Amino acid sequence: MVAKLNLPVNDSVQVIRNIFAEREHYKEFYEALLPDLEEKILTYIELGADPSRMTPFDLSPYITRQRIASEALLVVKPNDHPDPLMRLIGKRKKSLIGLYSPEKDKQPYNILEDMRRKHGLLFCPSCGEPGKPGTLDHYFPKDAYPELAAVLTNLTPMCSECQGRKGTDFQDEHGNKIFIHPYFDPVDQVLISLEICEPYSSPSAFNISVPDDIEQSLRILVCTHIDGVDFIERFEEFCRSQYMTLLSNFSDERLDPDPDTASRIIRRFLRNTEGQSVNRWEAIFYRGVLNNPDLLYYLDNGELPQFL
Ligand SMILES: [Zn+2]
Repeated sequence: MVAKLNLPVNDSVQVIRNIFAEREHYKEFYEALLPDLEEKILTYIELGADPSRMTPFDLSPYITRQRIASEALLVVKPNDHPDPLMRLIGKRKKSLIGLYSPEKDKQPYNILEDMRRKHGLLFCPSCGEPGKPGTLDHYFPKDAYPELAAVLTNLTPMCSECQGRKGTDFQDEHGNKIFIHPYFDPVDQVLISLEICEPYSSPSAFNISVPDDIEQSLRILVCTHIDGVDFIERFEEFCRSQYMTLLSNFSDERLDPDPDTASRIIRRFLRNTEGQSVNRWEAIFYRGVLNNPDLLYYLDNGELPQFL
Protein backbone atom coordinates (compact mmCIF):
# COMPACT_ATOMS: atom_id res chain seq x y z
CA MET A 1 0.00 0.00 0.00
CA VAL A 2 0.82 3.60 -0.43
CA ALA A 3 3.79 5.45 1.03
CA LYS A 4 4.14 9.16 1.65
CA LEU A 5 6.74 10.68 -0.67
CA ASN A 6 8.54 14.01 -0.58
CA LEU A 7 7.67 16.47 -3.33
CA PRO A 8 9.98 16.31 -6.38
CA VAL A 9 13.32 18.02 -5.70
CA ASN A 10 12.89 20.40 -8.64
CA ASP A 11 10.41 23.22 -8.21
CA SER A 12 7.34 22.55 -10.39
CA VAL A 13 6.69 26.23 -11.18
CA GLN A 14 10.29 26.95 -12.14
CA VAL A 15 10.48 23.85 -14.34
CA ILE A 16 7.33 24.91 -16.20
CA ARG A 17 8.81 28.40 -16.70
CA ASN A 18 11.95 26.83 -18.18
CA ILE A 19 9.97 24.50 -20.44
CA PHE A 20 7.71 27.30 -21.70
CA ALA A 21 10.72 29.56 -22.33
CA GLU A 22 12.06 26.95 -24.79
CA ARG A 23 8.85 26.95 -26.90
CA GLU A 24 9.20 28.16 -30.46
CA HIS A 25 5.85 26.97 -31.77
CA TYR A 26 2.76 28.63 -30.31
CA LYS A 27 4.96 31.08 -28.43
CA GLU A 28 2.17 33.58 -27.74
CA PHE A 29 -0.09 30.76 -26.50
CA TYR A 30 2.50 29.59 -23.98
CA GLU A 31 3.23 33.14 -22.85
CA ALA A 32 -0.46 33.80 -22.23
CA LEU A 33 -0.93 30.49 -20.42
CA LEU A 34 2.07 30.74 -18.08
CA PRO A 35 0.70 33.06 -15.33
CA ASP A 36 -2.51 31.04 -14.96
CA LEU A 37 -0.66 27.74 -14.96
CA GLU A 38 1.75 29.00 -12.31
CA GLU A 39 -1.23 29.86 -10.14
CA LYS A 40 -2.82 26.49 -10.85
CA ILE A 41 0.32 24.63 -9.74
CA LEU A 42 0.31 26.52 -6.44
CA THR A 43 -3.40 25.73 -5.98
CA TYR A 44 -2.69 22.09 -6.79
CA ILE A 45 -0.15 21.95 -3.98
CA GLU A 46 -2.31 23.95 -1.58
CA LEU A 47 -5.40 21.78 -2.13
CA GLY A 48 -3.42 18.54 -2.21
CA ALA A 49 -4.60 17.58 -5.71
CA ASP A 50 -8.32 17.68 -5.00
CA PRO A 51 -10.20 16.96 -8.27
CA SER A 52 -13.49 18.28 -6.86
CA ARG A 53 -11.91 21.75 -6.71
CA MET A 54 -9.67 21.68 -9.77
CA THR A 55 -11.24 21.86 -13.21
CA PRO A 56 -9.23 21.49 -16.43
CA PHE A 57 -8.30 24.70 -18.26
CA ASP A 58 -10.46 25.98 -21.08
CA LEU A 59 -7.69 26.69 -23.60
CA SER A 60 -9.70 29.03 -25.82
CA PRO A 61 -8.87 32.33 -23.99
CA TYR A 62 -5.17 31.72 -24.71
CA ILE A 63 -5.62 31.57 -28.47
CA THR A 64 -5.56 34.92 -30.27
CA ARG A 65 -8.30 36.14 -32.64
CA GLN A 66 -5.66 36.51 -35.31
CA ARG A 67 -4.80 32.81 -35.07
CA ILE A 68 -8.46 31.85 -35.28
CA ALA A 69 -8.95 34.12 -38.31
CA SER A 70 -5.98 32.58 -40.15
CA GLU A 71 -7.08 29.06 -39.23
CA ALA A 72 -10.55 29.82 -40.64
CA LEU A 73 -8.98 30.49 -44.06
CA LEU A 74 -7.40 27.01 -44.25
CA VAL A 75 -8.97 24.16 -46.17
CA VAL A 76 -10.65 21.75 -43.71
CA LYS A 77 -9.49 18.13 -43.99
CA PRO A 78 -12.10 15.34 -43.83
CA ASN A 79 -11.44 14.37 -40.17
CA ASP A 80 -10.89 17.90 -38.88
CA HIS A 81 -13.34 19.74 -36.64
CA PRO A 82 -15.37 22.24 -38.69
CA ASP A 83 -14.86 24.99 -36.07
CA PRO A 84 -11.42 26.65 -36.45
CA LEU A 85 -11.18 27.41 -32.71
CA MET A 86 -11.82 23.77 -31.85
CA ARG A 87 -9.11 22.73 -34.31
CA LEU A 88 -6.65 25.12 -32.66
CA ILE A 89 -7.58 23.90 -29.18
CA GLY A 90 -6.90 20.33 -30.34
CA LYS A 91 -3.45 21.33 -31.62
CA ARG A 92 -2.54 23.23 -28.42
CA LYS A 93 -3.70 20.31 -26.30
CA LYS A 94 -1.48 17.96 -28.29
CA SER A 95 1.43 20.35 -27.87
CA LEU A 96 0.92 20.52 -24.08
CA ILE A 97 0.75 16.73 -23.80
CA GLY A 98 3.91 16.52 -25.93
CA LEU A 99 5.83 18.47 -23.24
CA TYR A 100 5.88 15.25 -21.23
CA SER A 101 7.84 13.48 -24.00
CA PRO A 102 10.69 15.90 -24.75
CA GLU A 103 13.68 15.22 -26.98
CA LYS A 104 16.84 14.29 -25.06
CA ASP A 105 18.28 17.81 -25.34
CA LYS A 106 15.09 19.56 -24.20
CA GLN A 107 13.64 20.21 -20.76
CA PRO A 108 12.46 18.37 -18.72
CA TYR A 109 14.00 15.18 -20.18
CA ASN A 110 16.71 14.71 -17.54
CA ILE A 111 14.41 15.61 -14.65
CA LEU A 112 11.83 13.03 -15.74
CA GLU A 113 14.52 10.39 -16.20
CA ASP A 114 15.77 11.06 -12.66
CA MET A 115 12.23 10.91 -11.29
CA ARG A 116 11.77 7.52 -12.99
CA ARG A 117 15.10 5.98 -11.99
CA LYS A 118 16.77 7.82 -9.13
CA HIS A 119 13.99 7.85 -6.55
CA GLY A 120 15.69 5.21 -4.38
CA LEU A 121 12.43 3.35 -3.84
CA LEU A 122 12.51 -0.43 -3.45
CA PHE A 123 8.75 -0.80 -3.70
CA CYS A 124 5.83 0.84 -5.51
CA PRO A 125 4.50 3.83 -3.54
CA SER A 126 1.02 3.19 -4.91
CA CYS A 127 0.53 -0.49 -3.98
CA GLY A 128 3.59 -1.34 -1.85
CA GLU A 129 4.72 -4.28 -4.01
CA PRO A 130 8.45 -5.03 -3.75
CA GLY A 131 10.52 -3.90 -6.75
CA LYS A 132 11.75 -0.63 -8.19
CA PRO A 133 8.90 1.32 -9.81
CA GLY A 134 9.98 2.32 -13.32
CA THR A 135 7.19 4.54 -14.60
CA LEU A 136 5.65 7.89 -13.72
CA ASP A 137 1.93 8.21 -13.33
CA HIS A 138 -0.04 11.34 -14.18
CA TYR A 139 -2.26 11.69 -11.10
CA PHE A 140 -4.59 13.91 -13.13
CA PRO A 141 -4.54 12.23 -16.56
CA LYS A 142 -2.85 14.26 -19.27
CA ASP A 143 -5.70 13.89 -21.71
CA ALA A 144 -8.21 15.48 -19.30
CA TYR A 145 -5.71 18.01 -17.88
CA PRO A 146 -3.19 18.61 -20.70
CA GLU A 147 -1.82 21.70 -18.92
CA LEU A 148 -0.60 19.42 -16.10
CA ALA A 149 1.15 16.91 -18.40
CA ALA A 150 4.66 18.13 -17.51
CA VAL A 151 3.93 19.49 -14.01
CA LEU A 152 6.20 17.55 -11.65
CA THR A 153 3.83 17.50 -8.67
CA ASN A 154 1.33 15.70 -10.91
CA LEU A 155 3.86 12.91 -11.59
CA THR A 156 4.47 10.09 -9.13
CA PRO A 157 6.63 6.96 -9.41
CA MET A 158 4.47 3.88 -9.90
CA CYS A 159 4.80 0.23 -10.91
CA SER A 160 3.48 -0.71 -14.33
CA GLU A 161 0.88 -3.02 -12.78
CA CYS A 162 -0.68 -0.12 -10.82
CA GLN A 163 -0.44 2.18 -13.79
CA GLY A 164 -2.27 -0.31 -15.99
CA ARG A 165 -5.06 -0.68 -13.41
CA LYS A 166 -5.38 3.04 -12.62
CA GLY A 167 -5.34 4.08 -16.27
CA THR A 168 -7.02 7.46 -16.65
CA ASP A 169 -9.32 7.12 -13.61
CA PHE A 170 -8.99 9.75 -10.90
CA GLN A 171 -12.40 10.75 -9.53
CA ASP A 172 -15.79 9.26 -8.66
CA GLU A 173 -19.18 10.44 -9.96
CA HIS A 174 -19.22 13.21 -7.32
CA GLY A 175 -15.79 14.49 -8.39
CA ASN A 176 -13.99 13.15 -5.30
CA LYS A 177 -10.53 11.65 -5.56
CA ILE A 178 -10.40 7.86 -5.67
CA PHE A 179 -6.63 7.38 -5.59
CA ILE A 180 -4.23 8.30 -2.82
CA HIS A 181 -1.72 10.94 -3.86
CA PRO A 182 1.67 9.98 -2.38
CA TYR A 183 2.85 13.63 -2.17
CA PHE A 184 -0.16 14.97 -0.33
CA ASP A 185 -2.35 12.44 1.46
CA PRO A 186 -1.55 11.53 5.10
CA VAL A 187 -0.47 7.97 4.44
CA ASP A 188 2.57 7.56 6.64
CA GLN A 189 0.53 5.59 9.18
CA VAL A 190 -0.40 1.90 9.09
CA LEU A 191 -3.29 1.62 6.63
CA ILE A 192 -3.67 -2.14 6.26
CA SER A 193 -3.87 -4.96 8.80
CA LEU A 194 -3.44 -8.61 7.87
CA GLU A 195 -5.07 -11.57 9.56
CA ILE A 196 -3.55 -14.97 8.76
CA CYS A 197 -6.14 -17.70 9.34
CA GLU A 198 -5.64 -21.30 10.51
CA PRO A 199 -4.53 -23.92 9.77
CA TYR A 200 -1.03 -22.51 10.03
CA SER A 201 0.49 -25.36 8.05
CA SER A 202 -1.46 -24.00 5.06
CA PRO A 203 -3.52 -20.89 5.88
CA SER A 204 -7.17 -20.92 4.80
CA ALA A 205 -7.20 -17.15 4.21
CA PHE A 206 -5.18 -13.95 4.31
CA ASN A 207 -7.73 -11.32 5.32
CA ILE A 208 -6.95 -7.64 5.09
CA SER A 209 -8.71 -4.73 6.77
CA VAL A 210 -8.28 -1.02 7.37
CA PRO A 211 -7.48 -0.36 11.08
CA ASP A 212 -10.26 1.23 13.16
CA ASP A 213 -8.23 4.29 14.11
CA ILE A 214 -8.08 5.59 10.51
CA GLU A 215 -10.14 8.73 10.06
CA GLN A 216 -13.33 8.24 8.00
CA SER A 217 -12.49 10.22 4.83
CA LEU A 218 -9.03 8.60 4.62
CA ARG A 219 -10.64 5.20 5.18
CA ILE A 220 -12.94 5.76 2.18
CA LEU A 221 -9.97 6.87 0.07
CA VAL A 222 -7.91 3.84 1.11
CA CYS A 223 -10.80 1.55 0.11
CA THR A 224 -11.30 3.13 -3.34
CA HIS A 225 -7.53 3.11 -3.89
CA ILE A 226 -7.23 -0.58 -2.93
CA ASP A 227 -10.04 -1.39 -5.32
CA GLY A 228 -8.58 0.77 -8.11
CA VAL A 229 -5.17 -0.92 -8.15
CA ASP A 230 -6.60 -4.41 -7.52
CA PHE A 231 -4.59 -4.64 -4.32
CA ILE A 232 -6.35 -7.54 -2.57
CA GLU A 233 -5.84 -10.21 -5.20
CA ARG A 234 -2.24 -9.19 -5.87
CA PHE A 235 -1.33 -8.96 -2.19
CA GLU A 236 -2.92 -12.31 -1.37
CA GLU A 237 -0.77 -14.02 -3.98
CA PHE A 238 2.30 -12.38 -2.42
CA CYS A 239 1.22 -13.56 1.07
CA ARG A 240 0.89 -17.16 -0.07
CA SER A 241 4.39 -17.27 -1.47
CA GLN A 242 5.88 -15.25 1.41
CA TYR A 243 4.25 -17.60 3.90
CA MET A 244 5.86 -20.65 2.29
CA THR A 245 9.25 -18.90 2.55
CA LEU A 246 8.52 -18.15 6.20
CA LEU A 247 7.74 -21.79 7.02
CA SER A 248 10.86 -22.86 5.19
CA ASN A 249 12.94 -20.36 7.20
CA PHE A 250 11.58 -21.78 10.44
CA SER A 251 12.21 -25.31 9.30
CA ASP A 252 15.88 -24.32 8.87
CA GLU A 253 15.91 -22.42 12.17
CA ARG A 254 14.93 -25.53 14.07
CA LEU A 255 18.07 -27.26 12.82
CA ASP A 256 20.14 -24.57 14.54
CA PRO A 257 21.61 -25.76 17.87
CA ASP A 258 20.48 -22.49 19.46
CA PRO A 259 17.29 -21.48 17.58
CA ASP A 260 15.96 -17.95 17.96
CA THR A 261 12.31 -17.33 18.88
CA ALA A 262 9.72 -16.51 16.22
CA SER A 263 8.85 -13.18 17.79
CA ARG A 264 12.49 -12.05 17.76
CA ILE A 265 13.04 -13.19 14.18
CA ILE A 266 9.84 -11.61 12.88
CA ARG A 267 10.48 -8.37 14.78
CA ARG A 268 13.86 -8.19 13.03
CA PHE A 269 12.28 -8.83 9.62
CA LEU A 270 9.70 -6.14 10.30
CA ARG A 271 12.29 -3.58 11.37
CA ASN A 272 14.27 -4.20 8.19
CA THR A 273 11.27 -3.72 5.93
CA GLU A 274 9.24 -0.90 7.43
CA GLY A 275 12.04 1.66 7.28
CA GLN A 276 10.82 3.08 3.96
CA SER A 277 7.12 2.50 4.55
CA VAL A 278 4.94 0.79 7.12
CA ASN A 279 2.58 -0.12 4.26
CA ARG A 280 4.91 -1.95 1.91
CA TRP A 281 3.89 -5.55 1.40
CA GLU A 282 6.60 -7.20 3.52
CA ALA A 283 5.83 -4.84 6.43
CA ILE A 284 2.08 -5.62 6.32
CA PHE A 285 2.89 -9.33 6.14
CA TYR A 286 5.36 -9.47 9.04
CA ARG A 287 3.13 -7.24 11.19
CA GLY A 288 0.32 -9.74 10.54
CA VAL A 289 2.58 -12.55 11.77
CA LEU A 290 3.88 -10.62 14.79
CA ASN A 291 0.38 -9.63 15.96
CA ASN A 292 -0.78 -13.25 15.91
CA PRO A 293 0.43 -15.03 19.12
CA ASP A 294 -1.04 -18.38 18.01
CA LEU A 295 0.93 -18.25 14.78
CA LEU A 296 4.13 -17.31 16.64
CA TYR A 297 3.57 -20.29 18.94
CA TYR A 298 3.07 -22.51 15.89
CA LEU A 299 6.28 -21.28 14.28
CA ASP A 300 8.20 -22.09 17.46
CA ASN A 301 6.53 -25.37 18.41
CA GLY A 302 3.99 -26.62 15.85
CA GLU A 303 4.44 -29.41 13.35
CA LEU A 304 5.75 -27.84 10.14
CA PRO A 305 4.64 -29.33 6.78
CA GLN A 306 6.78 -32.22 5.52
CA PHE A 307 7.20 -30.86 1.99
CA LEU A 308 9.43 -27.95 3.08
ZN1 LIG B 1 2.12 -0.56 -7.71
